[in-house]
Amino acid sequence: MTAKVTATSGPLVLLIEDEPQVRRFLRATLSVNNYRLVEADTAQQGLMHATGHNPDIVLLDLGLPDMDGLEVLKRLREWSSVPVIVISARGQEQDKINALDHGADDYLTKPFQAGELLARLRVALRHAQSHTKEPDSPIFAVEGLKVDLAKRQVFVRGEEIHLSPLEYKLLTFLIRHAGRVATQQQILREVWGPTQADQTHYLRVYVGHLRRKIEADSARPQVLITEPGVGYRLRESGSGE
Ligand code: CA
Repeated sequence: MTAKVTATSGPLVLLIEDEPQVRRFLRATLSVNNYRLVEADTAQQGLMHATGHNPDIVLLDLGLPDMDGLEVLKRLREWSSVPVIVISARGQEQDKINALDHGADDYLTKPFQAGELLARLRVALRHAQSHTKEPDSPIFAVEGLKVDLAKRQVFVRGEEIHLSPLEYKLLTFLIRHAGRVATQQQILREVWGPTQADQTHYLRVYVGHLRRKIEADSARPQVLITEPGVGYRLRESGSGE
């Protein structure tokens, strides 16, 4: 396949995907939303285009004909910090976890909707930019939850609430990942420490505590969302989703 970059002005997406139907869908969706696209249908070609085209973001299928997508991710991460969103089929939770633990920024489960794809692209691109620009706003607000990160104050529907130090640490870690999924191991490593990465029951207990404090209905969470089999995702600040 020749690398034909569509001519608009938006961010350049490198799509590494062997399924023609998925590529057709993404080509149509991305072009009407002002993204530029370069396509690869093998891992080798994808790695070549990653160096040749310097994309702003990579969409990476895990099941490629010539190499495991995870291997592509590892090779890419040896020299590049470009945001990578993994595309995989339902039921491949362990593959998603491995990809996230090896530096993928997020994942999409096939089949996915155009709106979901575009939201994930926006979040990943914004996070990539915020590393090079000024730090994010010290106020995080979504769905009745407001966190003043500078003053370490948390408000739920206008009322200040008290969080334990560990609950606050968990919440602020999720805020730094807002809009993106964090695996159980990533959260445990960062919040509890590297020796606690297997203590998934701690995490479930504290997620429960936190939900009771920040959700309107902790049985139907709208802010701290479970990604089944993978981890958790905090709804992003100001999102209208
Ligand atoms: Ca595939």
